[in-house]
Order: sequence, then C-alpha cells, then structure tokens
Amino acid sequence: MTRLIVVGADAAGMSAASQARRGLGPDELEIVAFERGHFTSYSACGIPYWIGGLVESRDDLVARAPEVFRDEYRIDVRLRHEVTAIDLDRREVVARDLEGGGEVREHFDQLVYAAGAVPVDPPWAETSTAGVFGVQTLDDGSALRAWLDGDPRPRRAVVVGGGYIGVEMAEALIRRGLSVTLVERGPQPMSTVDPDMAVLVRDALVGLGIDVRTGVSVTGLTARDGRVASVVTDAGDLPADVVVLGLGVRPNTALARRAGLPVGPTGGIRVDLRMRVMGVDGVWAAGDCVQTVHRLTGQAVHLPLGTHANKQGRVAGINIGGGYATFPGVIGTAVTKVCELEVARTGLRERDATAAGYEFVTVKVESTNRAGYFPGADPMTVKLLAERRSGLLLGAQIVGRSEAAKRIDPLAVALWNQMTVEEMTGLDLGYAPPYAPVWDPVLIAARKAVEALSRG
Ligand SMILES: Cc1cc2nc3c(=O)[nH]c(=O)nc-3n(C[C@H](O)[C@H](O)[C@H](O)COP(=O)(O)OP(=O)(O)OC[C@H]3O[C@@H](n4cnc5c(N)ncnc54)[C@H](O)[C@@H]3O)c2cc1C
Repeated sequence: MTRLIVVGADAAGMSAASQARRGLGPDELEIVAFERGHFTSYSACGIPYWIGGLVESRDDLVARAPEVFRDEYRIDVRLRHEVTAIDLDRREVVARDLEGGGEVREHFDQLVYAAGAVPVDPPWAETSTAGVFGVQTLDDGSALRAWLDGDPRPRRAVVVGGGYIGVEMAEALIRRGLSVTLVERGPQPMSTVDPDMAVLVRDALVGLGIDVRTGVSVTGLTARDGRVASVVTDAGDLPADVVVLGLGVRPNTALARRAGLPVGPTGGIRVDLRMRVMGVDGVWAAGDCVQTVHRLTGQAVHLPLGTHANKQGRVAGINIGGGYATFPGVIGTAVTKVCELEVARTGLRERDATAAGYEFVTVKVESTNRAGYFPGADPMTVKLLAERRSGLLLGAQIVGRSEAAKRIDPLAVALWNQMTVEEMTGLDLGYAPPYAPVWDPVLIAARKAVEALSRG
C-alpha cells in the first residue's frame, strides 16, 4: 500500500488527492490530508461576494466538506493540523494539532505540497491590531465578517492595495453600507491591466462612492483601546474602524524551504511539467506555492489563481494515480468586476511585452456588447497588442458591462493557439443583436490591429 500525504486541503491539494483516488482505490493508496484551517475545498474567490452579501452563506463557498472526502473518497482529512516539518530522508511529516495540542508524525511514500500563498507583509508592523484583516483563507474571511457584524459596528473601512482583491473587497464593503477608502501606492488601481484601461476601473470605483487615493503609501496604523483607529499615510491619516489588506501574495514556501525543496526566482517551488518537485523523488507541488511558465515569454512566473491551482492539482493527482498528465503553462488570463463594470485580460500588458523584448502595436476600440439599437447595449473597450512584423496576438484587455469580461475567452484561445490578428479578423464568432453587434468588438479590434500593423 502506498501512502500519500497532502499538505493543504484546498483547491490544489484536494484536486490532487481526489484525482489520485480516481486512479488508485483505497486498497492501493492511503491518503491523509492535513489542513491547518477549518475548511476543505473552499472558494477563496467567493469570499468578497459572501462578505458583500451576494452569496448568502459561508457554507455555499465550500465545494466539498471533509465528510464528503472521508466518506466518498476515503481520504483521511485532518482539519486544524498544521504541518510543521517535512523530513525527506525519513519520509515523514510532523503535524501539530492546533486544537487538541500535541504532534503527530506520519510516514509518506508520496507527498503533495499545496500550502498555497501567504499575504505579502506590509512594510509596517501593526497587522496584529484588532480590526485589521487579510482575506486569504475562509478563516480570514470569517474573522472579517464577525468584525463587521460585531459591536460596535464598523462604519469606516480602509482597503490597502488596489489589486483585484482590494477592488473586490472595496465593492463588498460599500455594498454593506460602510464608507470605503481605497489606498493604492501606484498611479491607478488594477495594475493587472494597462493604466489607460485601469482608469476606467477607477472611474467605476469613484462612481460607487469609494474614495480612491492613488499615489499614496501607507506608513502605519494607529489604535485606540486596542482597536484600529486610523491608517497613517504619506498624505495624511485616514480614520478607520476596519482595515482590509490586499497587498498581494507570495508563495507559502517557508516549510518547503526548510525541507530543502527547490525554490525558483519567483519564490515559487520549482516543478516539472507533471508537477513533480524538481529533483525530489515522490514529492509533488501545485497551486499558489509553485512557479509556472508563461507560454509567451518562456519565463518563470508566479500567477496565484484558482484556475491554475485546480488544474495543477489535477495533473499531480493523475500522475500519482498512475496516469500521465502535464500542465502546459499559463498566458495570464483573468477576469473580475467592480459592480457592473467587468475587467478582463489575457497575455501581456504593454510593460510585460516591452520587458520581454517584443516590438508591438496597440489598438483600442470602443464598441458595444450588443447591437447598438438593442435594449441594454452598453459600451465596451477592447485593447489588443500585436507583435510588429509577425502580427501575432500578444495581449488583450477588455473593460465594459454585461457580457464584456468573458469575451476575453476567444482572445485567450486565439493567443494560446498563436493566431495573428489577421487570422482573427475571419473568426466565425456568434452574432445576433441581443449578444453582439454584427461586427463583434473582438473582430473590430483585430481589424484595427491589422491596419495599425500595415501602417508600420
Ligand atoms: C479574496 C480572493 C479572491 C480570489 N478570486 C479569484 C478569482 O476570481 N479567480 C481565480 O482564479 N483565483 C482567485 N483567487 C485565488 C485563488 O483563491 C487561489 O489561487 C487558490 O485558492 C489557490 O489554491 P491553493 O490550493 O494553491 O492554495 P489555498 O487555497 O491558499 O490553500 C492552501 C491551504 O493550505 C493550508 N495550509 C498552508 N500551510 C499549511 C500547513 N503547514 N499545514 C497544513 N495546512 C496548511 C491553508 O490553510 C490553505 O487552506 C482569489 C483569492 C482570494 C484570496
């Protein structure tokens, strides 16, 4: 009997575990999964929508509870157990029981390291002040929710960091009726898209009543009676009853490093195509803790997204279960929204393409999501980057209203399959007035890119 130990029981870890189980039955493979939190297979992606009240119950965010894994998959899930050491020579892990106390040592033949990511520490130290929250795990989300529902009820929120998590949290808090200030050090929130597209996101945030402060750095916090009282910035103090941190994440590799697992230039664990940790037999890693390859630049990247974590975990599990699967790398596709405004991207932004050494043209078109005369037609901005000379699509960004974001998918498919913008102009995309203008915005953008290329 082979013994598989999984460290971290969320997207990557439990995808790997359940897929391995599909390959090998309980008489061939014993699986033990350690999770330091209270939940398995939850959607961290859904936390902002639960906080904001769009999703009613926290349980709705849990895709599979521990009992399901225990009963249906015969996986021994041990919640509130934190793995504190991995001994590769003895092939053992040490796990601390966070509630009962004490430690257990467990042998493994195969190990999946899926410990996710941890929030980037702010350069200021007082994050332990009551009322300051990250939203990395469902436990974090639960703590924030309890604070928001507590007495005294917070009225003023400051969100630090204008990435997609900060933006989603700002929307969630304003939906709950708080007054919200979003502080971002850079020139625009949403730096995952180019600044000329991000300005549309900023406008949408301001339109919601969010006080957006860009070019402002947080330098500390003040507290009163142990509770956060204000956020101190280089442009003055911002009163706050609750602070949400969205400063980005880094791979959670402290434990892996101590065990001697190889870590790459991005800080993520180095894995091969099959999600095997490089040079370490029988050890696999997947999800937010690993680095992967960007298919356009060929460079190592750390792109912590649920979509990759699930796929990578699945690949590891298929291989552990005796099958063959590979993870093909990423192109940086992502979508989000600010109330009605949808934001999407794939491939390279201008600064990425420049850094990678590409010469390229950019085009930006304004169109609508439906035929202009059709009720509910809303404006949509599509931006494309195409390589000068070859005309290959290098990147795309979309900002608009209903049905805008998922229009990134045909663009992602075109980019993945190395299409030129010329080839894209002939794509057979669906058309009817309720769904698109007769020339879909994607096709108009491709045509404009061809014109820009021909102008040289
Ligand atoms: C607010 C928010 C919104 C997001 N929205 C999106 C989105 O819209 N789309 C998208 O693609 N992605 C989104 N993501 C990212 C996505 O949630 C992550 O990429 C995904 O959860 C990563 O899965 P993972 O299994 O690698 O890591 P995690 O989900 O972080 O799971 C790792 C688990 O390991 C446990 N753990 C860590 N160390 C130990 C240890 N030593 N012992 C035991 N257990 C341990 C942790 O408690 C955690 O449960 C969002 C993330 C957040 C926080």
